[in-house]
Amino acid sequence: MTPEVHSKPLEPQAVADARAAASRAQAAFPAWAAMGPNARRAVLNRAASALEARAPALVDAMKHEIGATAGWAHFNVNLAASMIREAAAITTQIAGEVIPSDRPGCLALALREPVGVSLGIAPWNAPIILGVRAIAVPLACGNSVILKCSELCPRTHGLIIEAFAEAGFPEGTVNAVTNAPEDAADVVAALIDHPAVRRINFTGSTHVGRIIAKRAAEHIKPVLLELGGKAPFIVLEDADLDEAVKAAAFGAFMNQGQICMSTERIIVVDAVAEAFLAKFTAKVATLTTGDPRKGDTPLGAVVDMRTVVHVNALIDDALGKGATMPVGGKGETVLMPATVIDGVTPDMKLYRDESFGPVVAVIHARDEEDAIRLANDSEYGLSAAVFTSDAARGLRVARRIQSGICHVNGPTVHDEAHMPFGGVGASGYGRFGGKAGIDSFTELRWITIDTEHGHYPI
Ligand code: NAD
Repeated sequence: MTPEVHSKPLEPQAVADARAAASRAQAAFPAWAAMGPNARRAVLNRAASALEARAPALVDAMKHEIGATAGWAHFNVNLAASMIREAAAITTQIAGEVIPSDRPGCLALALREPVGVSLGIAPWNAPIILGVRAIAVPLACGNSVILKCSELCPRTHGLIIEAFAEAGFPEGTVNAVTNAPEDAADVVAALIDHPAVRRINFTGSTHVGRIIAKRAAEHIKPVLLELGGKAPFIVLEDADLDEAVKAAAFGAFMNQGQICMSTERIIVVDAVAEAFLAKFTAKVATLTTGDPRKGDTPLGAVVDMRTVVHVNALIDDALGKGATMPVGGKGETVLMPATVIDGVTPDMKLYRDESFGPVVAVIHARDEEDAIRLANDSEYGLSAAVFTSDAARGLRVARRIQSGICHVNGPTVHDEAHMPFGGVGASGYGRFGGKAGIDSFTELRWITIDTEHGHYPI
């Protein structure tokens, strides 16, 4: 009789490597957490300079890996360096408080303490900004970190890790994990399951965000989720149309519309719809697309043919249901034209689905009230914008839009290192940036010291 063979399927090497990275981070944590704030600040500041020193290599990597323009790549380097310096600046601001206690002689403290190993998972679309954002504030708070790199831009993410290594973080404090696309689910699951990993932050699609949140919930581990968007851009009848056109064009087509804050829906009130559309289509017609390696066009390539197929299908569906296309067209290659689809209605996929490509929907609203209703008719809620010449009106409208971020008379695409960045609904929860980032990556603890003899009821 042949003996029965019980064989366990071999786990991918990437999973073993990921577990090893978590163990290294765990071993490095106590020393890094114990380091004084100015010492942590010095290393972070060196990392910012080391990143800037790699600007030519980073720009080249972004052009080749994701088809980015030089402008988008340079913006990535600059904002990412500023995020590291902001993180360096907050090391001395991670403060707690003394809270009055009703217990005689009791000194009650609320202390912010590092949590342990923080796992950051970053996407490809703004690879330097989002890779750095996943680890900079967690490090500043005294945590050791793991960056789970995107499969689409391993070189760009690798250069970030190289810059942090050069800065001189203690061995094991900053770790990177890479994987083949087919191993992503196993690698991420192994990292979430690892007992040393105490916080998870994820930037990426809502679909994967849900998988990650569920897995983390099994272990009751807190997660910060920065997911997809369908940013509305409201144009009211008293808007400065020239300003609105510039901001809408930038917001819709910067990085070929592949930004989580990209303007996806322009909601224009009937009174100015015709005038706005005339100026907007004229502007969009000037936004040419070309090979980003040549560097002479405002739009570069989209990331892959999957995006081309997805955007083309959204365009076909909208046109088939009665929308019009005043400018642009479908793409045959990754060099897709900037496209405007007018008259988008709720029965069209483009009304609800994130395009994450160079196409923007124009939706007509009767008035301000209708525009707010339309803006809120989305499962997403990351960024939004309102254009009006009446700032008080703009503020009133902004406060009624269900989103984490809203700009009055500014584009939906706007990020600064020290701002509370994050969404609501299907766009996620939790906040990166500034003081909000400190809350996200520390544990708030209540510690008391009794200074008098105690009186107890039993
Ligand atoms: P994605 O969700 O496909 O991938 C992100 C990461 O998830 C990658 O590292 C990948 O390895 C990992 N992953 C993939 N499948 C997985 C699985 N089954 N289990 C666990 N992990 C898995 O996202 P993407 O295509 O790289 O990025 C585009 C999306 O990111 C868009 O929806 C965009 O709106 C969103 N985004 C959001 C923000 C924000 O701040 N809110 C910023 C940029 C991008």
